[in-house]
Amino acid sequence: MIPLDEAQDYVRGTLVALEPVESPLDEALGCVTSERVIAREPVPSFDNSSMDGYALRAADTANSPVQLRVIGTILAGDDTKWRLGEGEALRIMTGAPMPEGADSVCMIEETSDDASGRSVVIGRTLSAGDFVRHPGDDIGVGQVLVESGVELAGAQIGVLASQGFETVRVSPRPRVGVLSTGNELSGPGGTLGTGKIRDINRPMLLALLHHSGFATTDLGISGDDPTHIAAALQRGLESCDAVVATGGVSVGDVDYVKTVLAEICEGRARWMQVAIRPGKPFAYGVAGPHARPIFGLAGNPVSTRIGFEMFVRPALRFLAGQQVLERPTLNMVLDCPLERSRDAKLHLVHVVSRLHSDGQWHIESAARHGSHLLNAVANANAIAMVPDGDGFKVGQTVRALLLDANPPPPPSRQ
Ligand code: AMP
Ligand code: MG
Repeated sequence: MIPLDEAQDYVRGTLVALEPVESPLDEALGCVTSERVIAREPVPSFDNSSMDGYALRAADTANSPVQLRVIGTILAGDDTKWRLGEGEALRIMTGAPMPEGADSVCMIEETSDDASGRSVVIGRTLSAGDFVRHPGDDIGVGQVLVESGVELAGAQIGVLASQGFETVRVSPRPRVGVLSTGNELSGPGGTLGTGKIRDINRPMLLALLHHSGFATTDLGISGDDPTHIAAALQRGLESCDAVVATGGVSVGDVDYVKTVLAEICEGRARWMQVAIRPGKPFAYGVAGPHARPIFGLAGNPVSTRIGFEMFVRPALRFLAGQQVLERPTLNMVLDCPLERSRDAKLHLVHVVSRLHSDGQWHIESAARHGSHLLNAVANANAIAMVPDGDGFKVGQTVRALLLDANPPPPPSRQ
């Protein structure tokens, strides 16, 4: 057996980040920038009103309340060239360009207009610049908008849109093929034949991959047949940046995935017995001129889930140009014991955790152990890392990967 970090380092050492592409802005959410983006337009680009109100000359309001003559209305988007003289006001809407001669805006709430709309009483004294947004207030030309290596969030897409950019240079979203292997597997629908089980891993992995921001290709189910497995993996390599297969990597009579993987990867593959529970057997290699990774995860669904977190997700994040590959790891206080016996493995235990009012993350419950017990772990929002030993008692702290900061709602009483 090899330690988890040795297996992770082996995978890391084989990876090559994907070549950057020019991505349409509306497809770039969650992608990582591969160059720094510089502003080319000021935002705002002209003086405009930050309120619905009246544009005026602040000097005219020195002895407010004061009545001003209303000479017209300017809406956002108007391009009429207005000129405002002494004693005059223009009704103006938020975002409309400031008329020449005006230096401030009084918000509607602080005015009262007469029924004719031809005059308005300004209720307060204004200073030049009040409620006026100036060019470059938000963004100046030449300013760095987004550094290289940044995962684009919604507001950053908005900032790029403010510049009129249609595309942005990013690492592409890796496309990942997913294959389930096993003679016993059935897809959805129909009734299960004798000895058959539903294919859990493929739908689960497709969902986990989507949730982590990757594109997916469903490679279906292959029986335990080396020719079929090889064909399915090759099909995946043709259109994907990486392939994840489950099942067939242990020491069983028909565990062909690990041998097929070794062949396809022409020596650039390794079968590992990783000192973790669950998820010990792990086959991995890179294929073809682009060194596309192929992951062979153990078939038990909880093992697959762990393999995804430990190996697949960090590696794909590397391909995607991410700088932080791992989930956040926190020290959490145990409200329940995490018992275990010595077996020279790191135990990865699905747990429910929550941030308590004492400012600490608490582990409130732990899933029953059993790599086939997926339902028992499905609500977990963290994975506790329990090193070899006698486990932990209530009140002790343990390191845990946070999968989701929102714990599941407490079970409803019926
Ligand atoms: P294997 O890794 O092929 O030895 O499979 C280990 C266990 O996981 C067996 O009980 C399989 O039936 C089960 N298993 C393998 N693949 C899947 C899958 N895609 N969905 C659900 N269970 C699976
Ligand atoms: Mg199998």
